[in-house]
Amino acid sequence: MTTHQSFNPFHMAQTQFDGVAELIDLDDSTKQLLREPLREYSFAIPVRMDSGSTQVFRGFRVQHSDARGPCKGGIRFHPQESLDTVRALAMWMSWKTAVVDIPLGGGKGGVICDPHNLSSREQEQLCRGWVRQIAKNVGPTIDVPAPDVMTSAQHMLWMLDEFEVIHGAKYPGFITGKPVGMGGSLGRKEATGYGVIFTVREALRQLDLRAEDTTASVQGFGNVAQHAIRLFTQLGGTVVCVSSWDQQDQTSYAFVKTDGIDLDQLVAITNSFGGIDKSKAADLGYKVLSGDLWLEQEVDILLPCALENQLNATNVDRIASRVKLIAEGANGPTTPEADQAIKSRNIFLIPDFVANAGGVTCSYFEQVQSNMNYFWEKDEVLDKLDAAMTSAFLSVSDLARKQEIYTRDAAYVIAIDRVARAAQDRGWC
Ligand code: NAD
Repeated sequence: MTTHQSFNPFHMAQTQFDGVAELIDLDDSTKQLLREPLREYSFAIPVRMDSGSTQVFRGFRVQHSDARGPCKGGIRFHPQESLDTVRALAMWMSWKTAVVDIPLGGGKGGVICDPHNLSSREQEQLCRGWVRQIAKNVGPTIDVPAPDVMTSAQHMLWMLDEFEVIHGAKYPGFITGKPVGMGGSLGRKEATGYGVIFTVREALRQLDLRAEDTTASVQGFGNVAQHAIRLFTQLGGTVVCVSSWDQQDQTSYAFVKTDGIDLDQLVAITNSFGGIDKSKAADLGYKVLSGDLWLEQEVDILLPCALENQLNATNVDRIASRVKLIAEGANGPTTPEADQAIKSRNIFLIPDFVANAGGVTCSYFEQVQSNMNYFWEKDEVLDKLDAAMTSAFLSVSDLARKQEIYTRDAAYVIAIDRVARAAQDRGWC
């Protein structure tokens, strides 16, 4: 699904890290410790399929750093999942939890599979199998998983159940993103997308723009994108284009409506994987264009909310001249080459591990509530989330302004400094 066969997200994460390590003059031992994961697990998950045959899937869990608290990060189900993708995402989780200043580290997991082709029973067996292979190395005080690309609250509940069966007690703090009523937090569903827009709102203030006067184009139409669109629209903004992956055609499509998309109407014709039905969309008056045309739209704001490596050397020049702000809802959507171009065009960038930190922040709230066994009202969750996201954004934009550095570098400086100090204070390096 990435556009370059040679693209390696872990090399990209390390390149970003190396640049900032030099900028802050990080000592060699801390640099060595933080540019690689602390621990990584790769394992086989045999699943008895509905046909009666057994299929063996490959699962991963990477724990990048637990210097600031238990590792934290999602589990992705994806046919192109790789250990290097999981390594990169685990590293980015360490920076994300640090930049929002929550007492957690960074981890990530994945399984190479395509849930489109798995029955519900097979997916349950895969979830339980993943937990069986790693149950001793994860847990509420070690490493806390969560949903991510193509995994849901239901998957989390199956995983929790397996973990509790293995350990013989209730551990609601083992996993987050659980269904509400089964230990989940109100607001978790909305948290990542809303968090993106809390930071967009603050950036627009700094750019002296009113949301009502702005338009946006969004890549992706899954959990993050849909909730980002909801809040952006509530603030008065107009989304003129969304895009999604078409499983049948194995390509992406952009859905354009210049007077603004109707979110609920599009959600009604979207499958559970965030794929929009293109013939129904055409019937509803959307212009349906194949390929990555979402990035060529003449809008003020781009919201890449799908996958990594979507703005790269081959397409960054196609970003329309009107674009003033890019908020990265997805993890790693921009390669270092594209970053250079965005920086030199003076587009305000809200980096991924700041923009999409709402999910993990709310996961942290879920853990706190699960541990207390007392659950907050949705407004309370979202107010706390807004405060945390706004504060993280402001500390990054203040530093970027004061030191005249790119926002991504400013975010890295804050995050790497916090993780490095925790490791040094513990006496690790
Ligand atoms: P999702 O599976 O719900 O949705 C992904 C969307 O992207 C779908 O609409 C899919 O059709 C679309 N897509 C995939 N490939 C595409 C392509 N090439 N072009 C256009 N659209 C494409 O996933 P999600 O939970 O919304 O996550 C999206 C991104 O946000 C990922 O990078 C994920 O790691 C990141 N993220 C998610 C969360 C969370 O809480 N869900 C938190 C932080 C970061």
